[in-house]
Amino acid sequence: MTYEETKLKLLTLPWKRVKCTQETCWCAGITTEQPVEFEDDELYVVRTGSMYKEVADHIIKIHNETLIKNESNKEKDIKK
Ligand SMILES: [Zn+2]
Repeated sequence: MTYEETKLKLLTLPWKRVKCTQETCWCAGITTEQPVEFEDDELYVVRTGSMYKEVADHIIKIHNETLIKNESNKEKDIKK
């Protein structure tokens, strides 16, 4: 798998919030529930240090709901 393909894989998997290393920090990151690696490096959707926790949760929710919808649409297409 090339880096380009690996990078796009991030969009096809469910996401979760990444905690900042500082306990009381305002920020959060986003990563995939199952780690995506390229040449021993883990790929993140958004690294910590740039996003409010509330914004991260909002984006994660929308992303994960979209994945579920797309999955159930696929199932409907198969049944047709
Ligand atoms: Zn932080």
